[in-house]
Amino acid sequence: MSQKIQIAETQQKYVAGNVYWHDGIDPLLPTTQVPSGKVDVAVIGAGYTGLQAAIATARAGRLTQVVDMHELGWGCSTRNGGQISPSIKPSFSTLAQRHGTKRAAAIRNEGYRSLDWIGSFIKTEGISCEYQRCGRFHAAHTPAHFDNLVSETQKLSSEEGVKFEVISRDEQHSELGTDAYFGGVVLKQHASLDPAKYYSGLLELSKRVGVEITDVCPAIEIKQEGRAFVVTTSKGEIRAENIIIATNGYTTSLVPWLQRRVIPIGTYMIATDPLPQTLMERLFPTNRVVSDTCKVIYYYRPSPDRSRIIFGGRVSADETNPAITGPRLHRDMCRIFPELVNYGYTHSWTGTVAFTFDTHAHIGQHAGIYYAMGYCGSGVGMASYLGFCLGQQLVGNPDSATAFDNLPFPTRPLYFGKPWFLPSIVQWYRLRDKLQIRRAAALDKWKN
Ligand SMILES: Cc1cc2nc3c(=O)[nH]c(=O)nc-3n(C[C@H](O)[C@H](O)[C@H](O)COP(=O)(O)OP(=O)(O)OC[C@H]3O[C@@H](n4cnc5c(N)ncnc54)[C@H](O)[C@@H]3O)c2cc1C
Repeated sequence: MSQKIQIAETQQKYVAGNVYWHDGIDPLLPTTQVPSGKVDVAVIGAGYTGLQAAIATARAGRLTQVVDMHELGWGCSTRNGGQISPSIKPSFSTLAQRHGTKRAAAIRNEGYRSLDWIGSFIKTEGISCEYQRCGRFHAAHTPAHFDNLVSETQKLSSEEGVKFEVISRDEQHSELGTDAYFGGVVLKQHASLDPAKYYSGLLELSKRVGVEITDVCPAIEIKQEGRAFVVTTSKGEIRAENIIIATNGYTTSLVPWLQRRVIPIGTYMIATDPLPQTLMERLFPTNRVVSDTCKVIYYYRPSPDRSRIIFGGRVSADETNPAITGPRLHRDMCRIFPELVNYGYTHSWTGTVAFTFDTHAHIGQHAGIYYAMGYCGSGVGMASYLGFCLGQQLVGNPDSATAFDNLPFPTRPLYFGKPWFLPSIVQWYRLRDKLQIRRAAALDKWKN
């Protein structure tokens, strides 16, 4: 009984929608309330992509104006899990079938490059954001997934130089204090940071290099007039030589061509109550980030100060709100760590990421408009890297080519930006994951 009461009490402390990371930063302020009327480059969207692109163009001497339709940091870039992975979901063989072996290898390599790039960027710019090359424990939710994970990772090691360590189920408590998984692999190159501190550092850098930034300023329409573009915003017009669209999961009909190519998907997180240090040491003996082999994955980690668990996943077939997803995430977290039933959570929030039909990011130009987006849920490294590359490409830096350049950016017939097919797909995958988890647990109990 006391457990239930304790959770009910802590629930009252939080306001649904509050983002844990926001508590650790100062207010994110724009440079100007009204955008400049005439600039070289107008950037729509002030997340990692937009700010990285803007820093690159401003450093190359281009007058750069960023606008965001909300307060700064409103998008995914301050509300993510802070886990940094290579972010390329398709396997080498899938990519090779689509684009040939050489291009496939180059695309896969961009993932590792983005991972290295963000680490050196943070170091070079001196951004204080709790960045750590901590590694990831990728946990298998069934014995069959463990076998598959080990053989896939061995293959990646020999083909792509992935550094890893196999963790058997017997050794699992050295990584994670749970018996819910059947072992896993440690992917040593993966990293973590505090997403809002990183964002805050990027914003400060943008200001230092002269980027103008206006918030609460939606771009409503883009028209071409001669060689220039005119962006109508809620706070006046911007005439710009070049436009960058960096709107990712929040892409609207501003550029319908892009809206037809990205699939907005909500993902959800909670931050637990502060936990006793001994409990944290038992559940998270390392600082690694964690994910699992479920089709609808859970991703989690200790907070940088190791006081809490930041736990995320997609716990709803339809898009919904954090008041509903908080209890569901808490329930699923307690399935993995039963001891946590004694503790509640203080923050529950959501954000919208962008998937693509070929499950990797895209960078390029359409009708003279530059864009980078579609990070498929892992954009901390990739959005930063492609944002930078996009800015470099715009200013004509010959070293800024990427393996994504000029790839087809697919859409589907009858898709106009509203993913009507998503709830049934998520429901089916979640059901399959759940059945696999139950079956593996039942077999395990029977064996022991
Ligand atoms: C809960 C959650 C957890 C995540 N966890 C991870 C993780 O652990 N690791 C990882 O790698 N990735 C993670 N991600 C994804 C990652 O955060 C994103 O891929 C990344 O932040 C994308 O950056 P962005 O700049 O492209 O987009 P965003 O940061 O979303 O910025 C886009 C901006 O565009 C603005 N905008 C849209 N339309 C307009 C318009 N018409 N006019 C003006 N402004 C406009 C929006 O207001 C928004 O601020 C997570 C995302 C969420 C939501």
